[in-house]
Amino acid sequence: MSYITAMTPRKKLETGLYVPPGRRNERENFDGISPIKSPEVGSSRVVPPNCCEDEEEEELNVSSTKNDTSSVVSFSSVSIVSSIESSPPKVTKDFQKKLRMGRQGYKSDRIPVHHRVVLSNNPVRKDFESTESSNSQNGFPNSPDDSFRSDASYESILDTFHQTNVQYIDSHCHTDFMYNNLLRRHDPQKHEGLAQWITKYPRAFPKSFSGLIANFIKPDLFVDSGNNDEYDFEWILRELQLNYYLGTTWGCHPHHVTQWGKNGFFWTTLKYILSNKKTYKVLAIGECGIDLNRCESKLEDQIEVFEKHIDLAFSHKLPLVIHCRSGHKGQAEDICLNILEKKMNVNHPFLKIHRHCFTENWETAKKWLEQCPDVHFGYTAALLSFKEPQIEAVRRIPLDRILLETDGPYFKPKCFDRVSPAKVCLPGMAIATAAKLAEIKQVPMEEVLRATYNNTRRVYQIAL
Ligand SMILES: [Zn+2]
Repeated sequence: MSYITAMTPRKKLETGLYVPPGRRNERENFDGISPIKSPEVGSSRVVPPNCCEDEEEEELNVSSTKNDTSSVVSFSSVSIVSSIESSPPKVTKDFQKKLRMGRQGYKSDRIPVHHRVVLSNNPVRKDFESTESSNSQNGFPNSPDDSFRSDASYESILDTFHQTNVQYIDSHCHTDFMYNNLLRRHDPQKHEGLAQWITKYPRAFPKSFSGLIANFIKPDLFVDSGNNDEYDFEWILRELQLNYYLGTTWGCHPHHVTQWGKNGFFWTTLKYILSNKKTYKVLAIGECGIDLNRCESKLEDQIEVFEKHIDLAFSHKLPLVIHCRSGHKGQAEDICLNILEKKMNVNHPFLKIHRHCFTENWETAKKWLEQCPDVHFGYTAALLSFKEPQIEAVRRIPLDRILLETDGPYFKPKCFDRVSPAKVCLPGMAIATAAKLAEIKQVPMEEVLRATYNNTRRVYQIAL
């Protein structure tokens, strides 16, 4: 029995909830330039730590992991009440209205976060309240000052997540990094992937978790350069056969620009993948962009590579996933926006943008909204430690412009700390971010789950 047929994904997904552009359970023959190379028999994978977001990860993960469980989660069929919009929103027409919604549409807009009264219909909040200490500003389990929380209180929060029937999607994560991270830590089984993680870590995957979009952004892992031990395209292809993989995005993260930005084989491979969208379930280009925090790549190289990604998104009519990170080397937001302005005015004013892992304030959010009519902001569990200027942006950005993401394996929410190996954030954990978004926006968590589910399907054109 092959690995694929031996897998036992959740029953409800055997029938397929979606039909993304790449049809599922389908594997085509590859021609001579397929990025697959023969696995090296007996080779051990010595994988250095990925550096993309380690800094944030350190801030958010403080405790160790206890032993894994091996029980199998059971699944029930769930349905979503609201339906997806059949066509993209007319964002230009009602743009001003949406901006007004940002300022006036939510009751919480005018109420300081520490003074807000939590809505009674937020079940998650009830759980927080039951164990909350007076020195916790918002009561969320990942608050910096919540070390008083007991295992039991975290279990109670996870129970709430597992009781929710409203489906949700992790719109941005790196399963290949999770795989390498788990391999590095304790499990040398090369065959393992998402299906096995769901079985091994059932508490990390509430039943309403419906799927993910996987971002392949480190060319070492999908471009065969001949001497990169991390490369394992067979693993990627096996994973993509799972229905949980609603789609993929491909690109070169700014951290890898120096090594790969001028590498012809990277661009050849990327173009090959883009010419086989169905096989690789391609939904978007990226993540790509500008990083002026800890990135070693030269800015001029980052700009050149970012512009090439934008051109690819235009030519393939695909959304663009943007990484934009300011730091001690400068402000990245204005650089990104200037590049986009130049490109979009000429070529494509309605480029769909997933502004990934947004951690900026409302002023910056407004710039993106004003310049890019179809921008959406991805929020990760980083928002669990946001301060007021960032929280204001969450309050004001309309809910129909927000995407739920983990950016896993980074940004593991503290309430999930003990359910999977340390520093491995799994896609099901996106629900913790939804709970915090709900608290900030003063709406039920289910409303956030439903909205972000629909937003993801609309931005990435994931049809029923
Ligand atoms: Zn990412």
